[in-house]
Amino acid sequence: MLTLAVVVAHPDDEAYGIAGSVALHAENPDFRFVLVHATDGEGGDIRPGFPATPETLGGIRRAEDEAAWRAVGRPPDRHVWLGFPDGGLDQVPFEQLVDAVWAVLEGERPTVVHTFGPDGIFGHPDHIAIGAATDAAFARGASSSGLAFRRLLHGAVPESVFQRWNDQRAQMDLSVFDPSEMYHMRGVPDDEIGVVIDCRSVADRVVNGLREHGSQHHVMSDDPDDVERWKRVVSREWFVVAWPPDDAADRPLSSVFEGLP
Ligand SMILES: [Zn+2]
Repeated sequence: MLTLAVVVAHPDDEAYGIAGSVALHAENPDFRFVLVHATDGEGGDIRPGFPATPETLGGIRRAEDEAAWRAVGRPPDRHVWLGFPDGGLDQVPFEQLVDAVWAVLEGERPTVVHTFGPDGIFGHPDHIAIGAATDAAFARGASSSGLAFRRLLHGAVPESVFQRWNDQRAQMDLSVFDPSEMYHMRGVPDDEIGVVIDCRSVADRVVNGLREHGSQHHVMSDDPDDVERWKRVVSREWFVVAWPPDDAADRPLSSVFEGLP
């Protein structure tokens, strides 16, 4: 079994950046996909005019997320909602967060674990907190032998791509990202990227999933109806190999499982 465990903070965090990798393995009978959401996303901004309230948003976003994976065409084999407070993950005692993630990972013994790196892609404190907790949970498993816990991946945007996207935003008169600001996208140095996935063949499926996150379209895209632009954005996924340290020293890997037995 090749098990991929994805651990994120909010419903929609995994709609970008890893959904293409999942879709590429959709037809593989040996592939197992475990998804962990730390929160229900109940603290998110509600799109103007969308029929939700702060009280109903968490349930709506859970349902959107499940519909999104059906639209991608490869729902998780197991989907765990940890139920921590949206916007408050960095206030949860760290060991409590680690234990909650470990409770899933210990039973699943995943081959590869994917989460946020210390940049949180957007500097979001929830992203940074769940990424750090997942790293710590992974470390508990990585000390064991066997075929599990072979690779830890951090989602990332290469600095060169970040700069290109920001230049395009400036040309389109859209607000540009300032990586020193919280909730703004940031890149990581290109030479830290250890995995580059070509998702062009499944980009339409990834966009089908993104479009199910209807309560969040206004924060996910400047024009959610511009499907072609969304497809270009999701046509690549990039990861930093956080463990083992020398796993991708020679070349970018082209699959999350490449080189693993
Ligand atoms: Zn998020």
